Amino acid sequence: MLIRFERSVSREEKAALKRRAAAALPGAKAGTAAGGLVLSGFDPALAADAVPLLENMAGVREIELAREEWCPLACAAKTRRTFTKPLNFRDGFIFIAGPCAVEEEASYLASALALKAAGAHALRAALFKPRSSPYAFQGIGFAGLKIIAKAKKLTGLPLVTEATDTRQIEKLSSVCDVLQIGARNMRNYELLKEAGCSGRAVLLKRAMHATLKEWLLSAEYLLKHGAGNLVLCERGDAVFSSDGPGLDLAMLREAKKITGLPVLADPSHSTRDRALAFTMALKAARAGADGLLVEASVSPQAARVDGRQTLTVVTFSRLTGAILCKRTR
Ligand code: PEP
Ligand code: MN
Repeated sequence: MLIRFERSVSREEKAALKRRAAAALPGAKAGTAAGGLVLSGFDPALAADAVPLLENMAGVREIELAREEWCPLACAAKTRRTFTKPLNFRDGFIFIAGPCAVEEEASYLASALALKAAGAHALRAALFKPRSSPYAFQGIGFAGLKIIAKAKKLTGLPLVTEATDTRQIEKLSSVCDVLQIGARNMRNYELLKEAGCSGRAVLLKRAMHATLKEWLLSAEYLLKHGAGNLVLCERGDAVFSSDGPGLDLAMLREAKKITGLPVLADPSHSTRDRALAFTMALKAARAGADGLLVEASVSPQAARVDGRQTLTVVTFSRLTGAILCKRTR
């Protein structure tokens, strides 16, 4: 923690600050820095509460925390081994594919089987859809649990499903392998706490326009509440066409470097167009993504939601081929 002083700071103010810092951060060692005071060696979990106490004191201009002090668990994640279950990142690039939402049984099962044959490692299995419009299709809800359970049995593939409310977690966890926290819910802290202690792997999307710090703080919530297997997913800032398509690939790389966690890219929601999604997926793979969360199905033209950005199975198969072929060369 770096505490920068006002130029006018007095010796008494500095002494008072050191006393309060010692009380708020037991074990902290104080050192000097140009124009300020450096505190280290304290429990980082105490920093968030100590900052407002200290920054309010006379003589303090600003306080800066080191990254290891505001997201210690996310930073320490790189010392953990990359997980192998339910998604085996150790073996290489991961494709999570499926329609935007589960709509009805026959087409979902057909998509699940075809996508597996085309190289998918896990299935998108969304029953609850957080939609920008309250009039838009909201997903089929728990009525779809038996459909996705059938798909899992038929294909043997793990299921990735979005939880939009804490009350869904238990039931979804009984069938699904990975709980997805969508972009709109990245800042839903109660949902993060509940998903963290669900015992399931969690996939955390970056919210539209969220900074790296906000994204990692949400990851920190999940880790603090027990998430053993956490994967991040960059999905870009686009919601409606007024936002340009694109992924923040520099942020994806930075998140990967800082945390060591697997980081996926979502070429579908970041482009809203299947032709652009294909190109974006290749670009993300080249930029170092550990895998893709991509919309693909046997019948994009019949989808009630996001059909325009959904790849056909044939295109998905071309995509897996193109990415895997580059990687094995
Ligand atoms: C999704 O992946 O199904 C989804 C709704 O995406 P996002 O949360 O990124 O909008
Ligand atoms: Mn979608």
